Amino acid sequence: MAFGASGPDSPRKPKAKRPRVEDPSSPGVRLIKTSRGELWFDDGNLVLAAGGTAFRVYKGILAKSSPVLADVLSEPQPEKCEGCDVLHLRGDDPVDVARVLELIFCSPDLYYDGKPVRFSVVASWIRMADKYKMHRILDHALARLRSFFSDDASQWRDALRNHASRSIKVNAEDAIAAVKLARLTGTFSLLPTALYTCSQLSSPTLLFGVFRDDTSGTVEKLAEDDIVRCLDAREALTRLNLLSTFQVWNPRVSHMCMDTVNCLATFEHQTRAIREGSVVHQYTLSATIREVIGDVYDAFILCFACEREIEKRGEKARQDVWRMLPTFFGLDMPNWMLDTQ
Ligand SMILES: [Zn+2]
Repeated sequence: MAFGASGPDSPRKPKAKRPRVEDPSSPGVRLIKTSRGELWFDDGNLVLAAGGTAFRVYKGILAKSSPVLADVLSEPQPEKCEGCDVLHLRGDDPVDVARVLELIFCSPDLYYDGKPVRFSVVASWIRMADKYKMHRILDHALARLRSFFSDDASQWRDALRNHASRSIKVNAEDAIAAVKLARLTGTFSLLPTALYTCSQLSSPTLLFGVFRDDTSGTVEKLAEDDIVRCLDAREALTRLNLLSTFQVWNPRVSHMCMDTVNCLATFEHQTRAIREGSVVHQYTLSATIREVIGDVYDAFILCFACEREIEKRGEKARQDVWRMLPTFFGLDMPNWMLDTQ
């Protein structure tokens, strides 16, 4: 795609009449389909073109952000627009480009801002930073991602519950892209929780993926072997869930029980209900036993000691799953952190 035809020696037009880059009638500018992105600094000295969008920024600052681009920009660029070098970023989505340029040129305060940023924005930063070796941006973006898909059980549980950590907002479907970013950047600590979140998605979402939040129409879909890992893990987790249900409601009262007759009757009633299929609890990693049982919790006739006993058993079941989490997905992670909560 050609972008502009006027050379550095072409006469500059008065600012008021400066052509829009997509204006075919303007003399000195060839017909182009590129439209101007919001990032267009009139005194910029470099035009970046990506997927039909142009950005005018500052060469020196960009080169400082990326050794890859610094190399490219050290050579004279044959194509010019309004006296600026034109650089085509091939294969990059303009939304990804805009987001990373926004960070570099408009919002460097985001490096220090503790507010959560949308996952899709962080994903754009990572894709661009990985490709162009923007180390500072990559470290920053991965730190945000790790704050959600954490290897710390309580941090991850809080984030999952709130659909956000302190620095990133994440939907469950975003886990698919998170797995791909973890593999792209070799950040394997993200994988257990990201794959677990994928394994809890609906089958169509897991199999067919989700559209990326940009203009490319890209579908984020797991690699086939990761889909198999999720399906296998789902089966193993379901089995474990059933086992946990029986272990939690094992009809054995607390040794501190204050009402053995009633408490035992409640345990036995629950066990029978589970066996008959009328009660199936989902002991997810993210929920405590009280949250799993929910509103009916208060309806159980259990003494305080047996309530504590149930909570303890539920917590143990959850910790067991957490400890084994990497192995469900065939991940060898000897330093996987134990849930200390
Ligand atoms: Zn009791």
